Amino acid sequence: MENKAALQDAFGRGHDYLRISISEHCNLRCTYCMPEDGIHLTPKPQLMTADEILQIAETFVQLGVKKIRVTGGEPLVRKDAKDILLRLGKLGVNLTITTNGILVPNFIDTFKAAGIKTVNISIDSLDKAKFNRITRRDYFEAVFENINLLLGEGFQVKLNVVLMKHFNDNEILDFIALTEFKKVQVRFIEFMPFNGNDWDKSKLVTYAEILHQMETEFAVNEIQRLEDAPNDTAKNFKIASYLGSFAIISSVTNPFCSTCNRIRLTADGKLKNCLFSNSETPLLETLRRGESILPLIQQNLRSKKPVRGGMEDDAQFQNPELFSQNRSMIAIGG
Ligand code: SF4
Repeated sequence: MENKAALQDAFGRGHDYLRISISEHCNLRCTYCMPEDGIHLTPKPQLMTADEILQIAETFVQLGVKKIRVTGGEPLVRKDAKDILLRLGKLGVNLTITTNGILVPNFIDTFKAAGIKTVNISIDSLDKAKFNRITRRDYFEAVFENINLLLGEGFQVKLNVVLMKHFNDNEILDFIALTEFKKVQVRFIEFMPFNGNDWDKSKLVTYAEILHQMETEFAVNEIQRLEDAPNDTAKNFKIASYLGSFAIISSVTNPFCSTCNRIRLTADGKLKNCLFSNSETPLLETLRRGESILPLIQQNLRSKKPVRGGMEDDAQFQNPELFSQNRSMIAIGG
């Protein structure tokens, strides 16, 4: 039975969007996500089984969750990913996925059977050499072909682009140009500080800098500011005559926490009430004892901070001593 209060935090924000990381593994090694020396992988017995993922997801859906995003690491490398997607697809929620796109051809039918209509693909460069440099792998063509494959199969495709200064900030207009003839939504993401990603403010491409490039290239009447959906993390734009659109996700310079409706479940069954929160609530032991996880969910949400896991001001947010206590991105799933 829906119990909206159970999904509310102390600031009245309702949390109807659950992001589930189903794997800590990945077939890429993106420098801003996977620390140089990799991460200490959680031993298998401490990871959620497919049944446990479904049990926890069902509990959240009964409480009122309306949207579930499957993430990783790279979710599609998990051996039973198809089974998990098909079963989540039966929960009657808006099911979406974030993937690096490499294994997509093996999942088209599964995505359709699971009712997935929107797929987010992580791609930070349209330049093969740069793509290979940042991912430390050679999959550029495959990823680009699979973006076209998804579009051809009628999926809505969103491209997640983490911008970094002196790396791909000179491709902002190329990505916007991509939306002229491709019905994709390009999402420019401000580079965020996490454990092991060598974050530094000097690498940040800000919301204002992205807008500046856009306004320098396009006339005012060509740029449309689209209406943002409620709880949207992105500020949405479109070039009037273009097929696609683009958006900016500015957690660093323009946080959007007042309307946050997101809660995260890590691959080892821990709840994170915020992407930047260092405190987590383990669910698996309680679940495996056959006890209710509802009190843990409520306690976790009631302890949620108003902004960025308690790192309200920039000094706190950009303090390596603080953000290094958090997980690395690969172990959160974005
Ligand atoms: S920083 Fe935390 S509170 Fe703010 S929008 Fe992101 S997840 Fe929500």
